[in-house]
Amino acid sequence: MVLQVNRGMAADENSDERASVQYRLSFRQADTHRVDIELSVPTDGKEQIELMMPVWTPGSYLVREYARQVEQITACNGLNQQELDIRKSDKNHWLVACQSAEEVVVRYSLYCREMSVRTNWVERDFAFLTGAATFLTCSDMLDHPHLVRIDALPNWPNVATSLREWKPNDPWTRIASSFDELVDSPIVLGAIDIQSFECGEAKHHLATLGGETFWDTPSAVKDVAKIVETEQKLWGDIPYGEYWFLNLATESGGGLEHDNSCVLMTGRWTQRQKSKYLDWLGLVSHEFFHTWNVRRLRPKVLMQYDYNNEQYTQELWVAEGITSYYDDLIVARAGLFKPKEYLDRVSKSIASVQTAPGRLVQSLRDSSFDSWIKFYRPDENANNSRISYYVKGSLVGMLLDTKIRSNTNDQKSLDDVMRLLWKTHRETGYTNEDFAAAVAEVSDDSVKSWLEQVLDSTNDLDYDGLLEWYGLEWKLRDSDKEKDKEKESAAERPAYGNVYVGLDLKAEQGRAMVDKVTRDSPASMSGILAGDELISFDGFRITTEGWNERLNLYKPDDVCKCLVARRGKILELTIRLAAQPENGWTLVRVAKPTEDQEAHWRSWLHMPLVESDAP
Ligand SMILES: [Zn+2]
Repeated sequence: MVLQVNRGMAADENSDERASVQYRLSFRQADTHRVDIELSVPTDGKEQIELMMPVWTPGSYLVREYARQVEQITACNGLNQQELDIRKSDKNHWLVACQSAEEVVVRYSLYCREMSVRTNWVERDFAFLTGAATFLTCSDMLDHPHLVRIDALPNWPNVATSLREWKPNDPWTRIASSFDELVDSPIVLGAIDIQSFECGEAKHHLATLGGETFWDTPSAVKDVAKIVETEQKLWGDIPYGEYWFLNLATESGGGLEHDNSCVLMTGRWTQRQKSKYLDWLGLVSHEFFHTWNVRRLRPKVLMQYDYNNEQYTQELWVAEGITSYYDDLIVARAGLFKPKEYLDRVSKSIASVQTAPGRLVQSLRDSSFDSWIKFYRPDENANNSRISYYVKGSLVGMLLDTKIRSNTNDQKSLDDVMRLLWKTHRETGYTNEDFAAAVAEVSDDSVKSWLEQVLDSTNDLDYDGLLEWYGLEWKLRDSDKEKDKEKESAAERPAYGNVYVGLDLKAEQGRAMVDKVTRDSPASMSGILAGDELISFDGFRITTEGWNERLNLYKPDDVCKCLVARRGKILELTIRLAAQPENGWTLVRVAKPTEDQEAHWRSWLHMPLVESDAP
């Protein structure tokens, strides 16, 4: 393990960057997941000041009510420590009566025990702080510099954050030029393995915490550097000088993007498990792509963050969906996925959309808009009623890319659309209309019309153009291969197994409870509801563990009676089993692609032409 002290760019203490809003963080209550925060603000002679804490954090579109973790808040005069009246005016605002104080000091304790990329965690071994979930500030001082002093525990040798050092060689005092920057700069404290590399004249750090001996950070750095280089080339512009990958191997998952850093949460053993490591590379690629797409090139609505309210946007399919299209594609272009590994991942996305009943209910535009009330709040009916703007967005991105490529004979691609938007809309933000106009400029109106129709539609996507352009086909389904055999055996004996019911069970105190019911499935048509307890199937007791095995004793079209308990009342329901829907959504390359298809495929994945094709 290599331990280094972060020596980022230091702000000149003699510059104008004197912080009006100052914090001191101390961790004497780390054992009970608490950080104690002292906030000092000048009053400028005001009789009363208002303090605010964000209710959500950019990048994660759900009101999370961070203020619920604030405890024991007090205020006093900074000069003589005389107590001042502080009271809440609503769920995330406080009013302090200044009583002629020139400076007000507010102290509060924050409970930090939610392990996710958009919340806080504090314990004896380390701390992870999300700006929005940590800092109160003065409502009218958002554009002022904010200074953070950290009293780290003795067993925390270093800090990883994109916040600048206030004075050279003092890693424990950091400054943000505004509250936006503070919110956008998560802080990791502890024993962090920091490995640095340069790419495109910018500095990058992979800071891993909790990997113990199971993370080989230098080897991961090589792969991360390839991803960085590929994305820098795609965008053709590097809008940062220093970037931090904050990699928390804390047995959690997810990622969150920031201007000059990202948070990645993963497992301790990820690097030693191939498929999980490939997922992690996809996550690195995804969050880093956001450095451009959504951090700096934003939907118009998000140009100025409103920390008090939801900000509704129909463009999350671009911010997240297009980013999801590029995440794995970039890993493939960087040579870290084999082409088949890439196709398998695309196939998984297609299958996940094509088997979700919600795809026929919610459009991509609506899915973006309703993220605040649906995507981040899944319930038992989620799969029936919504579609992910991440996954369907990535497929629309892929089909759009194919259309642009085929329309321009491989002269242009979605890469050009993204670069054009970066040039024209970075300062102003974009709407779906601006995005569609950029598509038309790079390609033509027919592709634009297709896109506009797809965004509002709940019809199934058409993959034919994709298959034709790259020389792909759906993998022959087992049933097709085995069709003749099956016919023979069916004549001799019934084919048991392969039945479909369309419900998920979960064990609850030994009972088999129905967790989810798929729309229009046999279970749904029988009248079984989520929340029912499944007591018996075809006259015999059922358990969660034995459910699938029991189903395999039946065949499609068998009719069985079920006993369920619904809020204590016993009901008898009749279910007609169906055949398991085939997963026909696995893409493979055709055996003999044409020369053109081979060239399109290589151009897409940035693979060099094979030798025989070379001039
Ligand atoms: Zn994302």
